Amino acid sequence: MARIVMKFGGTSVADLDRIRNVAARVAREVKAGHEVAVVVSAMSGVTNQLVKWCSELSPLHDQAEYDNVVATGEQVTIGLTAIALQTVGVHARSWQGWQVPILTDAAHGKARVESIEGDRLIAAMHAGQVPVVAGFQGVGPDGRVTTLGRGGSDLSAVALAAAVKADRCDIYTDVDGIYTTDPRMVPRAKKLERIAYEEMLELASVGAKVLQTRSVELAMKARVRVQVLSSFADLPGSLVVDEDEIVEQPLVTGVAYSRDEAKVTLRRVPDRPGIAAGVFGPLAEANVNVDMIVQNVGADSTTDMTFTVGRADLPRARQVLEDHRASIGYEALLADPAVAKISIVGIGMRSHAGVAATMFSTLAAKGINIQVISTSEIKTSVLVGADYTELAVRALHTAYGLDGPEPPAAAEGK
Ligand code: ADP
Ligand code: ASP
Ligand code: MG
Repeated sequence: MARIVMKFGGTSVADLDRIRNVAARVAREVKAGHEVAVVVSAMSGVTNQLVKWCSELSPLHDQAEYDNVVATGEQVTIGLTAIALQTVGVHARSWQGWQVPILTDAAHGKARVESIEGDRLIAAMHAGQVPVVAGFQGVGPDGRVTTLGRGGSDLSAVALAAAVKADRCDIYTDVDGIYTTDPRMVPRAKKLERIAYEEMLELASVGAKVLQTRSVELAMKARVRVQVLSSFADLPGSLVVDEDEIVEQPLVTGVAYSRDEAKVTLRRVPDRPGIAAGVFGPLAEANVNVDMIVQNVGADSTTDMTFTVGRADLPRARQVLEDHRASIGYEALLADPAVAKISIVGIGMRSHAGVAATMFSTLAAKGINIQVISTSEIKTSVLVGADYTELAVRALHTAYGLDGPEPPAAAEGK
């Protein structure tokens, strides 16, 4: 007998038939004698709608109230999933974040999990119950509901798996595993049987939405065995494992893209010590994450500073920078949301030179201009115009030898 956490994403609970399908999958594991805890997301599209409503009322809305709104999506699906399970004879109960409880910090909108009380869930499972836990939700220090950032149900599942000492954390989604790039964009992407925690962490952090970044971070730290698999087809999935469990080590394991970025340029910033702290300090205080940064060498005593922030954070970033305009002393603030970040990731990059050079020449051959570059040990990212996203991803996927055979459906269509 194993203890399993089964997590189902938005598309897997998009309507009642799909929720029935989830119930059938859970029932199968229960009948096989396993102890199961379930985590579900909101029905697909629901969180987007809730986020949109908050932004339409006010782009700079109160983040605690935002959490109160967006956390409702998961409340619906836990109740419906519990009913669907009860209908097929499984003893199930829904649990909201505060009922577990899943304790977080106070960073509304992207709260960090601080601790999860696993004992009550374990006791419930021992008593034969299948707890159906709301993904995405937590409870802050002041007792108010928090949410864990977009895609945060993955983190709920991994954190729960760690808290109840589960043998496995199975992430069921609308693709049948982790691929060399988004299989919806590149039909010739290949499924990876295994991927190292470090690589998955980098891929997630640069936009591969299949797993949320913090969920991978926690899985790596807490040694949770994560598997990504299809909620619709019975196919083997992909396992996230330790580096030394991977036999074949290609130079580049995957290509990722993110359209959730915006580029900010501060023109003619005074070129003096303390200026970076003057710009990025207030942004950090406002909980705005800054990603890529470039500062040019100025001709006179001023310089241009360019950086990227999450697109959703752009109104807040702009507000903060305008509030600090006098102390920073820049001449103009330019914001460009029509950008995309394209990244290549691979442990093989550690020990091989020239990997990034291939990236630059491949993009040049396609006439794609690189606006900003950033690198880390196993990753290189570039910022390009949003219109070039697909072209860049496909070209890089081919350039690094990642293309698999043409899928049958696409081949027939020719
Ligand atoms: P869920 O709602 O189940 O959490 P998500 O939409 O968050 O699902 O994540 C699954 C999606 O991630 C897939 O539909 C796919 O388009 C996208 N994706 C991006 N990169 C990858 C990748 N490397 N491998 C698999 N899927 C990926
Ligand atoms: N429903 C939340 C979102 O759409 C959490 C999740 O799906 O993981 O971001
Ligand atoms: Mg997701």
